[in-house]
Amino acid sequence: MSVFDVSGVDFTYSGAHRQTLTRVNAAIGAGNFCAIIGPNGSGKTTLLRLLLGALRPDAGTVHFAGKPVHTWPRRSFARRVGVVTQVEEMPFPLTVRELVSMGRYPHLGAWRRPARADEMAIETAIERCGMSEFAGRPIDRLSGGERQRARIARALAQEPETLVLDEPTASLDIAHEMTIFELLGAFSRHDGTTVVVVTHHLNLAARYADTLLMLDRGTVIADGPPAEVLTREIIERTYHWPVRVHPHPGPGPDGGAPQVVPVARPHSPPADTRDRP
Ligand code: ADP
Repeated sequence: MSVFDVSGVDFTYSGAHRQTLTRVNAAIGAGNFCAIIGPNGSGKTTLLRLLLGALRPDAGTVHFAGKPVHTWPRRSFARRVGVVTQVEEMPFPLTVRELVSMGRYPHLGAWRRPARADEMAIETAIERCGMSEFAGRPIDRLSGGERQRARIARALAQEPETLVLDEPTASLDIAHEMTIFELLGAFSRHDGTTVVVVTHHLNLAARYADTLLMLDRGTVIADGPPAEVLTREIIERTYHWPVRVHPHPGPGPDGGAPQVVPVARPHSPPADTRDRP
């Protein structure tokens, strides 16, 4: 059984002049690492919000673990699905440990105080995300990459079976991007966590994800292993830019993964020098 099952989904934002998603089908299996890719405005975040039950489809269905996602009681859903959104306003500067502790709320309820198991989950999440040395630091005194790891640690403290992340590496440098994709890869491979991530990083998605779901103007135009989705033909048709696709040279376990290199357009001479005799 799939963790997420999307079938024939249409969706239009109220007031929008065109449909945002059209007849979208997707199945994300347990333990799978799925990257949702596609150009700006292709509907990636909208699809994520439908998966989370934050939006309801106009037609079609979205199931989580066999039941329509909107029928899940929010607290049970939150115990099973950890979410890292794109942006988040922090009204006051919590420390990293306080932020990560918030991930336990779905397990606590109004009457239960944090127990040993909660403390363990919090410390494990902090450690796995490499945040131990920052645990007592207010989050407004962290770099972008550290703050993002703290937010992932909060989702991890929930001990979710599924993690859903919207562009977790936006505006991070290569070391921080790699750290986050390595973490997500480890959650999926070692812990069996289902990982769904929206990303613009085609090359990182190709190296770490098991499947890529490519959207273009609200429809799924390719869905499968990276080598089937990241072909020159599909990318050029979708992104309207010439590319070459080369196998990753390694070293590493991901050697051979398709890597996309956008190429410069052939140089054309300035208009006033053209067609001169
Ligand atoms: P992506 O994540 O791929 O960049 P989005 O899902 O954010 O794409 O947006 C898909 C389309 O829906 C875009 O054309 C965007 O302008 C539109 N859109 C997004 N959010 C809203 C909204 N709240 N109301 C109306 N239109 C929206």
